[in-house]
Amino acid sequence: MRILIVEDEEKMAKALRTGLEADDFSVNVAHTGEDGFFLASTETYDLVILDLMLPNRDGMEVLAALRQKNVSVPVLILTSRDTVEDRVKGLDAGADDYLVKPFAFSELLARIRALLRRGKVESGDKLRLADLEMNTAGRAVSRGGKELGLTAREFDLLEYMLRQKGRVISREMLARDVWQETARYTPLDNVIDVHIAHLRRKLDDPFRTKLLHTVRGVGFVLREETL
Ligand code: CA
Repeated sequence: MRILIVEDEEKMAKALRTGLEADDFSVNVAHTGEDGFFLASTETYDLVILDLMLPNRDGMEVLAALRQKNVSVPVLILTSRDTVEDRVKGLDAGADDYLVKPFAFSELLARIRALLRRGKVESGDKLRLADLEMNTAGRAVSRGGKELGLTAREFDLLEYMLRQKGRVISREMLARDVWQETARYTPLDNVIDVHIAHLRRKLDDPFRTKLLHTVRGVGFVLREETL
């Protein structure tokens, strides 16, 4: 698995490279946005880790330019700018996930694995996350071998999130893709939140490891986290 790190801070870049290489990834480092764009658009990577604050061409510009060139490599943004606006902007610009500095290396690794797994085609009609198993053809879903008993809407919601596990899903995406409403309006947001709450009760409440997480001000994400 090849990873490109675009990061201007030498110390950070070196720490990332060392950690990822110890985990058997093959790593390239670019120290400017310009170099990062060049490498990402001319070579093949499984993932790009992109810092936002870069000299000359910043991370957001690099990301936008890559997506414009139809380079679809998964991009994980690293940012010290912990504002909701930046996160939403990054996701809108085509990032697949983001991590706010400072972060634990173990969390970075978990995010990377989730993104890489997502890139692989799921086998047949079985979707999985931790001990959660969904059979889309049979419309059956269980956790730890126990049927969850979801309603049709809850099932659709979970299937949609499961197909994009590890990715932050906005209410706008749910409105468009699960509810098939093109116009987004406040009552629908409330409906979505109610369904999410019901789904969470069945999916997570009886279990120690939580799968459905709220990303404040942005939306929701399905991933394995022990709280
Ligand atoms: Ca930087």
